[in-house]
Amino acid sequence: MTEHRVRMQNNEIFTDEHEAMRKTVRKFAESLAPHSEEWDEAGIFPREVFKQAGDLGLLGIRHGEDVGGLGLDWWYTTCYAEELVHSHNAGVNMALMVQSDMATPIINEIGSDEVKAEFLAPAVAGEKIAALGVSEPGGGSDVAAIRCTARRDGDDYVINGQKLWITNGTRADFVTLAVRTGGEGFGGISFVVCPTDVKGFHVGKKLKKIGNKASDTAELFFEDVRIPVRYRLGEENHGFYHIMTNFQGERLVGSIGTVAGMEMAVRDAIRYGEERKAFGRPLTKFQVWRHKLVEHITGIEAARRLTYFAVDRFMKNPMEATREITMAKLFAGDLAQKVLYDCMQLHGGFGYVTEYPVSRAWTDVRLITIGGGTSEIMKEILVKLENL
Ligand SMILES: Cc1cc2nc3c(=O)[nH]c(=O)nc-3n(C[C@H](O)[C@H](O)[C@H](O)COP(=O)(O)OP(=O)(O)OC[C@H]3O[C@@H](n4cnc5c(N)ncnc54)[C@H](O)[C@@H]3O)c2cc1C
Repeated sequence: MTEHRVRMQNNEIFTDEHEAMRKTVRKFAESLAPHSEEWDEAGIFPREVFKQAGDLGLLGIRHGEDVGGLGLDWWYTTCYAEELVHSHNAGVNMALMVQSDMATPIINEIGSDEVKAEFLAPAVAGEKIAALGVSEPGGGSDVAAIRCTARRDGDDYVINGQKLWITNGTRADFVTLAVRTGGEGFGGISFVVCPTDVKGFHVGKKLKKIGNKASDTAELFFEDVRIPVRYRLGEENHGFYHIMTNFQGERLVGSIGTVAGMEMAVRDAIRYGEERKAFGRPLTKFQVWRHKLVEHITGIEAARRLTYFAVDRFMKNPMEATREITMAKLFAGDLAQKVLYDCMQLHGGFGYVTEYPVSRAWTDVRLITIGGGTSEIMKEILVKLENL
């Protein structure tokens, strides 16, 4: 897969300014790469990395300039998500993307000026860490069944309940939190911003994961946590709608990163297969490998085009892009399982040791068909959209 050819095809999309962003992110990601294995082993990475990303503007690419964001478009985010893979650490990338593209866009869109100043501006600067709290122990797919409650008491909400699987959970300064403020079902959910330095909030277990190890994933407990009503995002009981719109950006950025990750894995596999000899010739001279590689290059190109189509649709009309975004996540997520399996297999025994990024990428990639909505849920959404 020649990088040159890929870039030529994309010239109609990416301007010199986009390419400048690409260079900035690549340099940043490459500076993180040497620490990748160490941070995976530690199960965490330095907080300073958020600040470095913030200083480069990467935590607020599309956020308003009033909060220190760059006010740019989704193609810049595309460059960011694509180049971040050069960190060779999916955990770090996920943590940064939760901050930039999952926990904060909703504040940027519907937060009050006060909430933006208190939470969003420091998050964009990388001075505060953000988490997104939607999933619960009772279920992540069935978002309408959220049980964590926020009872109104004068000018406060009193929050009780639990969240699970929360990325950045052990050290977040605030959580963009989905809570039940009304009756059963999707009509009783609201979004609030909950600081974590409040009485009654505590972090439970840090979860031990098979992949994305450098990102901390935790369970969070809320026991009579009191926050002011003004920390609510948007109207009361309209949270389900915002969760669903927020999911679109999350799934899109996940798809973009997945495509870039597959491309990197195939490039690495080709490099390895050209050097490694068996039975007197490089591995890439075996037809079985050449065929697998071109099959995957074709799949990756298809996934990229579908993802770019989804980006384009989303930019033109965010309300009309659900179908394409859902397809992109489903297609890229499922394809990535096959691509990483083969890239690892091509490495033989070396693919099984953590020293080679492909071994970690193989376990990391498992998450994409689960997090942010499973492949089964993507299919359920498409079934509805296709009126089947
Ligand atoms: C590493 C990691 C990080 C995460 N980070 C966050 C985060 O920062 N914030 C956050 O809120 N959440 C986060 N999540 C949660 C993630 O979004 C959920 O795990 C995901 O939505 C699935 O929910 P669940 O795990 O409860 O699975 P379940 O909903 O219990 O599903 C279990 C299985 O049943 C299937 N299933 C469920 N319903 C249906 C259906 N209707 N039809 C067919 N099959 C179905 C699912 O596809 C899945 O295979 C994270 C998860 C992980 C693993």
